[in-house]
Amino acid sequence: MRIAITREPAFENCHFSGLDGGLNSLRSNTFHWAARSLLIWSGNREHEPHSYPDVMAVAIYPGSFDPLTNGHLDILTRGSHLFDQLIVAVLQNSQKQSLFAVAERVEMLNEATAALPNVSVLSFEGLLVNCARECGAQVIVRGLRSPSDYEFEEQLATLNRRLSPQLDTIFLVATESNRAISSRIVKEIASLGGDVTSFVPPHAAAALRAKYASR
Ligand code: ADP
Repeated sequence: MRIAITREPAFENCHFSGLDGGLNSLRSNTFHWAARSLLIWSGNREHEPHSYPDVMAVAIYPGSFDPLTNGHLDILTRGSHLFDQLIVAVLQNSQKQSLFAVAERVEMLNEATAALPNVSVLSFEGLLVNCARECGAQVIVRGLRSPSDYEFEEQLATLNRRLSPQLDTIFLVATESNRAISSRIVKEIASLGGDVTSFVPPHAAAALRAKYASR
């Protein structure tokens, strides 16, 4: 099976940064997404063993990352082992008040993922399904900490699938030691002068200290 994709995605709403190899390598990797997704999701991998290495599986891991935590880092590292390309997508949400600016969150993620060559970081506005389509992602990765996470995530996954039927969501269950970690709780502890070094990467802890010291 061989499918040629003739139109390069527009990348209109997505702003890439810090990708090793740059935007161009990511673009070139997206051309084969349809073939790869067909091979994977049709269950035909066994019958097409020689086509498999030709195509790229691209996943997108969206979130607020305000700030990045060890829980996020765990999910994105595991995701990077499952897919050829993992795009971490920072949501620019004007309705939601964030502690860190989008550029600061992107910088935090770039620093934390510098050693993961198949991970890129971008920010996006608007619908995730549009950003995923523009990046050539076939899969959304999300993390699950608890049954209450599942209730919300299931709703999101269902709606995203309605908006973009070829886009599937895969959930990775949080590692036990990270289950209690959330950006919200980390911010609360840091705002009260607590030590957050066991919940977030060192540079995020430093950024939190600096942020609250300047308030
Ligand atoms: P959102 O505001 O969309 O919930 P977050 O930045 O809070 O964005 O989270 C992004 C994704 O990471 C979500 O799927 C969330 O469930 C997951 N996540 C957040 N914290 C953890 C954690 N400690 N362990 C595993 N997954 C997590």
